Amino acid sequence: MKVDGTSPGLLLVLSAPSGAGKTTLARLFVAQHPEACFSVSATTRTPRGAEREGVDYHFVTREQFAELVARDAFAEWADVHGQRYGTLRSTVEESLAAGRIAVFDIDVQGGAQVKARWPEQAVTVFVLPPSLEELERRLRARSTDADAAIARRLGAARSEIDRGLAQYDYVLVNDDLATARRQLEAIVAHERARLAGRRDERARQIAESLQRSRVDAGRWLR
Ligand code: ADP
Ligand code: 5GP
Repeated sequence: MKVDGTSPGLLLVLSAPSGAGKTTLARLFVAQHPEACFSVSATTRTPRGAEREGVDYHFVTREQFAELVARDAFAEWADVHGQRYGTLRSTVEESLAAGRIAVFDIDVQGGAQVKARWPEQAVTVFVLPPSLEELERRLRARSTDADAAIARRLGAARSEIDRGLAQYDYVLVNDDLATARRQLEAIVAHERARLAGRRDERARQIAESLQRSRVDAGRWLR
């Protein structure tokens, strides 16, 4: 789809317990869609691994973050794992005006705020790992966090899953990455067709099977 300011913009919110693979999915999606852009958040945490300023995050001090809050510069912000993270309002407004797909890698508190502000344009997708054991394995394999940080992230996984399964539009299990990627493509194709008043029958079928109400949440809420 072309970007000409007349295509309907989409706010694609991806949330997940840390380690489920939402950043991997978000980056893959953006790499394959010229009309998509990754929403770069501001955070008070320090860079991890090969993360770069302005690409992965805008790394700011607590004072700078507080100043942005005071100026009402954020579309949403939240405290996550003891650090602050926020999406700048200008990022959302510019991508909607350009008819782009803005991809957000944000937590469930932020996702709920984006959905409440832009209920028509925002599509919320909750990414689950195939199991909690696999989640821990991925967090350790990523090896960018200290043991204490991994324990904190695993401890927070349960409440993140509860909220995601209660509130999000779609639920996607990231077991095989290629399958999860195709499912995400179908959700976006279906939602873009909806906003443009078209129908994409194949995408609709896949997307509907991933709607939260269709997913067996039981095994995750034990
Ligand atoms: P998140 O952004 O949700 O915290 P990441 O995208 O950083 O998660 O993924 C966590 C780790 O799991 C990374 O090392 C990533 O390469 C790996 N990973 C992501 N998706 C899959 C998958 N489908 N199968 C196996 N490993 C995966
Ligand atoms: P990480 O430190 O692993 O990059 O991110 C920790 C958590 O913060 C993840 O769940 C991530 O999605 C979330 N996060 C990143 N940026 C934002 C943001 O701008 N707003 C909110 N609410 N959460 C964010």
